[in-house]
Amino acid sequence: MLIDGELRLTAGGATFDVVHPATTEVAGQATDGTVADMDCAVGAARRAFDGTDWSRDVEFRYHCLIQLADALEEQKEHLRRVLITEVGCPVSVTGSQIDEPINEVRHWAEHGRAFEYVTDNGVHETPLGPAHRKVFYEAAGVVGAITPWNVPFYLNIAETMPALMAGNTVVLKPAQLTPWSGSELGRIVAERTDIPAGVFNVVVSNANEVGAALSADPRVDMITFTGSTATGRAILAAGAATVKKTLLELGGKSAHIVLDDADLSASLPMAAMMGCVMSGQSCILPSRILLPRKRYDEGLAILAASMANFPVGDPWTPGIMQGPQISQTQREKVLGLIRSGVESGARVITGGGVPGNLPVGYYVQPTLLADVDPNARVAQEEIFGPVLTVTPYDTEDEAVAIANNSIYGLSGEVSSADVDRAVSVARRMRTGNVTINGRSHFGIRSPFGGIKQSGLGRRNGEEGFREYLESKTVGMPG
Ligand code: ADP
Repeated sequence: MLIDGELRLTAGGATFDVVHPATTEVAGQATDGTVADMDCAVGAARRAFDGTDWSRDVEFRYHCLIQLADALEEQKEHLRRVLITEVGCPVSVTGSQIDEPINEVRHWAEHGRAFEYVTDNGVHETPLGPAHRKVFYEAAGVVGAITPWNVPFYLNIAETMPALMAGNTVVLKPAQLTPWSGSELGRIVAERTDIPAGVFNVVVSNANEVGAALSADPRVDMITFTGSTATGRAILAAGAATVKKTLLELGGKSAHIVLDDADLSASLPMAAMMGCVMSGQSCILPSRILLPRKRYDEGLAILAASMANFPVGDPWTPGIMQGPQISQTQREKVLGLIRSGVESGARVITGGGVPGNLPVGYYVQPTLLADVDPNARVAQEEIFGPVLTVTPYDTEDEAVAIANNSIYGLSGEVSSADVDRAVSVARRMRTGNVTINGRSHFGIRSPFGGIKQSGLGRRNGEEGFREYLESKTVGMPG
């Protein structure tokens, strides 16, 4: 852990195992931090915010983040091995999970340096004479960052770098299954940067109560969280007592509306790939495919061929695109949802179980379920596995209604030969982001986030930086 500038283990030395999902073998240990460790880390972050110039010295912050980006770049092959070991994600898909996030550290450094922290709000008449108002954008304060296990290195960066660059101090609490991406980030901050003691802290733990302690601590001004909707609700409730600012990026169950004029041979192989890379362990993947009834069989055949031939296997082997699920518990959850789909009348077109050629490791076959009832659990609950559901529709209105029949509203996709038509359908989707014909909505310069129970607030883009700032309007004579 990194607490108050010191790299240390928890008192008493308790540890927990980190398991490599491709072999199910214990790869090593992580220190098992406690609520007392979290208390120290929050105290340190509070003192660093209140007692140093960190929040006011943008050039120093820039210097520190560039130092960090350089050090991460030097150690990126080590970080890649750590990531593959704890997540089991294929080496071939780590570009977006290691290389791009390191560039994003530089992005936030530049963005924060160029940001206008004071704006002129003009002169306004008041009973006591004209008031000249200026708006100062200031750091929110102490930010607690709680991250999940699916893309740990990226999300540790995505949650903490804009927060730091905006002048906040941070306590990062990585997920239990992926402690090392977080502890390595803490080590590199401590060993290789001038970031002052207490400004950046990492508390690793195997206990949910340590994250809960962070989200309830009155000394914390803001929580930024990525994870399940259930945990997001708990975090929001825990912060209510102190009216904490809360940024939540939660679950999704996104629909892909394939319009009747779409080029199926272009859009559906891509849809199959999106469903399987990262073993389906992604909140934004469009996992509900809606096909026009008159092109249903044609579409199913293309999806089935793509999924049946999808390269699943050892994540260390180049060319493999789908590794194991992260844990036995997650695999059981995925297989259970597939079974519930079948019980509700869905037809298994391909996959449906554990690959016979991969008896070791938490693998699940790429699975295509057809004739899925839009109200079935498998169409309503986030699966977090390599499973696509397919539902036929007759009219565009019906497709939009099925897409919107969800507690979630994170992402979505539309495929059509007519981009204007696709845009008008995208505008009707109750979701925070939409991809059209495979041109992704997702990137560091574009706001990203959910509506409904998919979250609160935005990451990335201008909005994603402002989330970590509060505006202070100052009125003065003149
Ligand atoms: P999953 O259910 O997929 O493991 P979660 O959303 O529960 O994902 O976990 C994401 C992060 O939230 C992890 O870092 C986890 O430790 C943390 N967490 C879990 N429960 C709580 C809680 N009650 N309060 C704060 N953080 C929590």
